[in-house]
Amino acid sequence: MLVSAKDMLNAAAKGHYAVAAFNTNNLEWAASILDAAEATQSPVIIQCTSGAAKWQVSFKVVADIVKNLVEDKNITVPVALHLDHGTYEDCLKCIDAGFTSVMYDGSHEETFEINLEKTAKIVEIAHAKGISVEAEVGGIGGVEDGVTSKGELADPQQCKAIADTGIDFLACGIGNIHGLYPEDWEGLSFDRLQEIKDLVGDLPLVLHGGTGIPTDMVQKAIGMGIAKINVNTDLQVVFAKATREYIEAGKDQQGKGYDPRKLLKPGREAIVERAKELICDFGSNDKGWA
Ligand SMILES: [Zn+2]
Repeated sequence: MLVSAKDMLNAAAKGHYAVAAFNTNNLEWAASILDAAEATQSPVIIQCTSGAAKWQVSFKVVADIVKNLVEDKNITVPVALHLDHGTYEDCLKCIDAGFTSVMYDGSHEETFEINLEKTAKIVEIAHAKGISVEAEVGGIGGVEDGVTSKGELADPQQCKAIADTGIDFLACGIGNIHGLYPEDWEGLSFDRLQEIKDLVGDLPLVLHGGTGIPTDMVQKAIGMGIAKINVNTDLQVVFAKATREYIEAGKDQQGKGYDPRKLLKPGREAIVERAKELICDFGSNDKGWA
């Protein structure tokens, strides 16, 4: 059964570990992420952007795939299905489609007041159905649905104001960036993370752009209140690498190596292995029902 992300993230924040939120692109991704979570007995968040939902036809198709996989694979750990960087309308669609968690990203709204107002509205609608809500203050650096910015630092007072709308967890820029990190990246700002934490108290914080941040830096951030870490690019890179190796070795031209089940298998296994590693780095292994 799918659950809201609220309880698993509150437990993570309290226990000083983080739950991985892996983006899904299709059936292979969702199944592999679930296999990794079950193998490590870890809670997990499967999340989907509107772009990845369009690729799979709709949010409803995504929800049906994940829900049925959890049931038919007999997954025993808590799984939340979360909308990643949604518009107001996307949130409403996901709430209808059966998602158990949504992120309303109002960071690109014209003013902070609009972000605040719409976040409060989504909280009201989602909470009435037991669905958890993530909000975002400031922007996250890098490319976010086509919008590019550099590693930003969220305003702590704005974080506090948005926390007070009753959201369940908050994405705040602390120098993190979506996609691969540039050579001259300055690292995470632990000072800003501390300032935000001091104002928002026990609210679980979310680190976007989890691909390529040095593990010791990630673990320090977890110790300071980061309870959800978004990972997207990392799994794409390992999938592409494993698939490329299969083809470069000419395996698709040997026997029935062109069979999609053979062709996709190395990439699928690479996702499982990498997701298991990340889960252990974040410390959520064996926290299935913490
Ligand atoms: Zn993000």
